[in-house]
Amino acid sequence: MRAWVVDEPGPVDGRPLAPVERPVPEPGPGQVRVRINVCGVCRTDLHLAEGDLAPKRRGVVPGHEAVGTVDRVGQGVTDLRPGDRVGVAWLARTCGVCAFCRTGRENLCVDPRFTGWDVDGGYAEHLVADEGYVYTLPEGFDDETAAPLLCAGIIGYRALRQSRCPPGGRLGIYGFGASAHLTAQVAMAEGMRVHVLTRSPDARRLALDLGVASAAGAADPPPEPLDAAILFAPVGTLVPPALAALDRGGTLAVAGIHLSDIPPLDYQAHLFQERVLRSVTANTRDDGREFLAAVARIGLRVATTVYPFDEADRALRDLAHDRVTGVAVLAVG
Ligand SMILES: [Zn+2]
Ligand SMILES: [Zn+2]
Repeated sequence: MRAWVVDEPGPVDGRPLAPVERPVPEPGPGQVRVRINVCGVCRTDLHLAEGDLAPKRRGVVPGHEAVGTVDRVGQGVTDLRPGDRVGVAWLARTCGVCAFCRTGRENLCVDPRFTGWDVDGGYAEHLVADEGYVYTLPEGFDDETAAPLLCAGIIGYRALRQSRCPPGGRLGIYGFGASAHLTAQVAMAEGMRVHVLTRSPDARRLALDLGVASAAGAADPPPEPLDAAILFAPVGTLVPPALAALDRGGTLAVAGIHLSDIPPLDYQAHLFQERVLRSVTANTRDDGREFLAAVARIGLRVATTVYPFDEADRALRDLAHDRVTGVAVLAVG
């Protein structure tokens, strides 16, 4: 089969992603094999290719927003069968026995495996995945629009929950890429008033078009104090203005796996009055199922740009240089 791998991480313009031929993998016990039709391109793939995320092993196939069809099942698989349409996302396996796994916080598992980092992901014609970590996908989303739900959607949903924005509350969204444009729509469906703060005029236009209450520059003060905010841009210098924009008791949730340095904070201006700054780390499978059930109810507009499979490296370069509108997806099958 054809696949893309990361051999030597490095600047994306130096082509750290290489096309290879690999044998089609066989599913082990409890695993399914998926013939991939579409795979979303996530900023984490870029961090991995460029080395911001240290590679777990040489020659790993990136990609953790894979949508396809089960074409073979391993021993002991009970819930899935060949022909089922499924999605494979970031969380590939958790230990099931650590203190976090046993208390409903498998996103914090001390020995997790991630798709496209520890185990081969979706920049390939096939992958294998543990049955228990594969999602069935809502009707009403074709493969191309379902792919971005699997990381951009699920992580954004967890960030929204961790921001503790109350029903009908005032939510700030900093940065407006793949994840943010999906999260904003969920928030609005839940009655929240959404203010988008981003440097990109195109993103501000998309946000207003989707119905947000306001859109302004990345570090601008929003038109009203915020009950909660989510920082999607991987830009640490936005932490102080986002904290300053919170009302008393508000929470800022940082959604990314990677953030540039946060400048010194002023306790009075940024944290006092019980403002909370918190990170968001991966997701539980319950987050994923809850989010997919929610979008099946409310529907979402998903902006995508499709790249042919053999131009995965161009997709990553375009993402690095902010040249992608909506979510980049690879047409694999
Ligand atoms: Zn665990
Ligand atoms: Zn991702």
